[in-house]
Amino acid sequence: MTILLASGSAHKVAEVRRILETAGVTADIVGLGDVSPYPEPVEDGATFEDNALIKARAGFAVTGLPTLADDSGIEVDVLNRMPGVRSARWAGGHADDQANLDLLVRQVADVAAERRGARFVCTMALVWSGGERVVRGVVEGSLATAPRGERGFGYDPLFVPRGETRTTAELSDTEKDAISHRGRAVRAMAPYLTEVGE
Ligand code: IMP
Repeated sequence: MTILLASGSAHKVAEVRRILETAGVTADIVGLGDVSPYPEPVEDGATFEDNALIKARAGFAVTGLPTLADDSGIEVDVLNRMPGVRSARWAGGHADDQANLDLLVRQVADVAAERRGARFVCTMALVWSGGERVVRGVVEGSLATAPRGERGFGYDPLFVPRGETRTTAELSDTEKDAISHRGRAVRAMAPYLTEVGE
């Protein structure tokens, strides 16, 4: 079974492959780099769910492959749950993880420990000839006072999951997958992926 993950992020494709493998789902996950290029849709949804569906519908319409898409981001309590759906573009433009992280670090620099609550949210949509499914995974936590760790990507160096002292950039892949928003969303999607293969 070949499934398109409508993402150009090598990190996300690797994470999803790994999580599905651990969950025992046999699927050949290909990313946008593995299919003929097509114009990516504008992610102008108001919610993570809207954006994930926009991306999954576009991928299925163009390729005919069962298509998964993930929309994810970080919600920071003291910023009224922003960056949220704007996480990838927080410092303007797109895909400059370091600039986005640096801006968030500055924005919360003077915020007290008890007000640094945050969460990673991941919504996954699956669109195939049999229909559409949408699931959500969340990991609650707080923001560290300074970025730490070399692993992961994006806002990982600043996020400390609840019950942890390390940031998600300091966790091993296995440790991150077990608790992460994407891990939870992908595992929630696993039964539907099995349906696609039937
Ligand atoms: P998307 O690719 O449009 O869904 O944007 C996701 C945004 O949230 C990017 O800025 C990512 O860096 C950030 N993000 C999503 N998942 C994670 C994660 O697991 N770790 C760190 N940052 C993440």
